[in-house]
Formats: sequence, structure tokens, C-alpha cells
Amino acid sequence: MESNYKEIAPLMMKLKPCVALTGAGISAESGIPTFRSKGGLWEKYDPMVYASIETFQEDPAKYWTIRGEFIRDYDTYQPNKAHLVLAEMERMNLLRHVITQNIDGLHKKAGNKNVTEIHGSLRETYCLKCSQEFIAPHVPEGLPPYCDCGGVLKPNTVLFGEQLPQGALETAYHESTSCKLMLVIGTSAVVQPAASLPVLAQQKGAKIVEVNIERAFPGADFMVKEKASIGLSKILEQIKKIVEL
Ligand SMILES: [Zn+2]
Repeated sequence: MESNYKEIAPLMMKLKPCVALTGAGISAESGIPTFRSKGGLWEKYDPMVYASIETFQEDPAKYWTIRGEFIRDYDTYQPNKAHLVLAEMERMNLLRHVITQNIDGLHKKAGNKNVTEIHGSLRETYCLKCSQEFIAPHVPEGLPPYCDCGGVLKPNTVLFGEQLPQGALETAYHESTSCKLMLVIGTSAVVQPAASLPVLAQQKGAKIVEVNIERAFPGADFMVKEKASIGLSKILEQIKKIVEL
């Protein structure tokens, strides 16, 4: 395992700046429930019912039941060491872009500037009638909350049955197919289109470094079987040793 870090660090220096693809695993250490894991929210609430656009249109209260609390407690969730390392990597020009499946907004909170949230973010909520925007946790009371104009509020996230935002998708494909190294962090690699991004990157010749507690991307060139905070910290530590030489 240690030798793995010693190989990854010089490779990241050589192929920088890299692109990172992140999933729920990176946010688990911030206390964000991973919906697909055992005991996760989706065991209690069927996502096809609670988080579909059809349900939202019929009964938006259902969606606010599962997401409202997070939005109103937004300031209590903080980026963890893994997010902070990625922000530092961006400042060091080791990393140029984060593509994330997460909707918790923690990469931006950690200080990363170039972030594509392909499933949107709970940070922003907007009125379906007049488009007025509200930034979490400053969202009106109510289940569901309403805008002053009477329109219902919807978080800026992609629900089941909705298309992913075209611009975000294009950026994600562009970044994936033009990087020379991709860090794949804490994603279960089952949800499309995110699951296909490392494949596309690899087809274009990029090296794949997976950091995950369980291997999800068998084709990865390097596997760091660790929590994201530990794996990424150790990679950065090795890089700093090289830089200081
Ligand atoms: Zn409105």
C-alpha cells in the first residue's frame, strides 16, 4: 500500500493537473448519509417515489420531507479532510476540476473553484413560478416552502425522471476526455453517466487512480483502499515530499 503512494505521487506530478470524480463516499465523513448504503435514507424512502419529478409535481411536500432538514441545517455540514485536500490540490495546480455526483455543495464550501455538480446542489433553491433564488439555509418555512409570489420552491437538484443539465454534462465529458489522470473517489460507479466517465478518460489514455473503501472501478490503474480523507492526505503528503526535494 505504501509503495502505491510512492508511485501515485510522481505520476500526479508528471500528469498534472488532474481531474477528480467524486461520489457519496467522500461526504460520508462529513456525516452526510450515503443514500445507497445499508441503513441509508433510501431504505426508508423509496427514491422513485420521494425523489421523482412526477411526485414533486403532485406533492412537493414528500420531497421536502427527505431534503428539507438538510437544507435548513445546511451550515452545520462541513467539508472534511478529503474535500480540503482536493481544494489544496487545486491551489497547487495539481487538480484542475472536480466533477461530483454529490448535491451537498461541500466541494465549493471547501474552496474548490472549478466544480461541476452533475446532479445539481441543495445549496440553491428556486421558485418554480418567478425563478427567485434562495440560498441554503435561508429558505422560507413550510412543507413545502412557498415563494412570496405563491410559487412552490424546488431545490436545484436533478430528480429522477429529469434530464441532467446539458452544460454540466458537456463540461464533465470534456474534462474527462482531456485529462491525463483521473482521481475516482468514493463513488460506487453504478449511476450513469458518472460511471462511464472514468471509462471515457481511460479510453483517451488517462491513468485512473481510485480512492475508495471498496473497489468500484476494476479497470483502475491504481487502487488506494482507504477512506477518502486518509487516502488523499497520504497522496498529498508524498507529493509534498517530492516538491520539497
Ligand atoms: Zn416566486
